[in-house]
Amino acid sequence: MRVLLVEDEPSLGQAVEEHIRDAGHAVDRVLRLDDAEAALRAVDYGLVLLDLHLPDGSGLDLLRTMRRQGDVRPVIILTARDQIRDRIDGLNAGADDYLVKPFDLDELAARVAAVARRAAGNPSPIVTLDDIELNQAARELKRGGKRIDLTQREWAILDQLLRRPNAVVSKEQLEETLYSFGAEIESNTIEVHVSRLRKKLGKDLITTIRGVGYRLERA
Ligand code: CA
Repeated sequence: MRVLLVEDEPSLGQAVEEHIRDAGHAVDRVLRLDDAEAALRAVDYGLVLLDLHLPDGSGLDLLRTMRRQGDVRPVIILTARDQIRDRIDGLNAGADDYLVKPFDLDELAARVAAVARRAAGNPSPIVTLDDIELNQAARELKRGGKRIDLTQREWAILDQLLRRPNAVVSKEQLEETLYSFGAEIESNTIEVHVSRLRKKLGKDLITTIRGVGYRLERA
């Protein structure tokens, strides 16, 4: 998933960015509201982490604008300990969750995962399809009860496909999920990883929809 982090405090911003990246997500960090607005227009983020007190205004205004425009992308607000009013206003403005600074980074990662699952319509960390079971929280994949080891990139791609069974996921959407791993995305990167997934999981599982993307189908 690609995450937009709007946080102007340098050390906190960097710590959050690294931790969310380690959890397997791509992170874009901006320090100002106007940059956040531009990023939201340009990129299909899976989730937004939003500080409220920013150099050029209030994160609350950005959140209200998003919701007024029908933008339902999940937002977790990051607030200061003594600002109870901020938390209430944030939730009333359409935030999905909040965290109070200073927060534990593992708790942040768990909340990011939980909010993203709810937004995708499935709050369970375990996704199953036929005899395949993917446990996001335990980072474990099984087929027919047998454990299969995946690389971080293979995992990210399979997770995207499994969360939308029978739907076509575009190559671009899958590329978005790989940006966090730093390396350049070549034009055939997704094909290479899908081919490795087929070797590990069986070649019948992932269907290529030529020119459109990939689909994971129930047997
Ligand atoms: Ca701030």
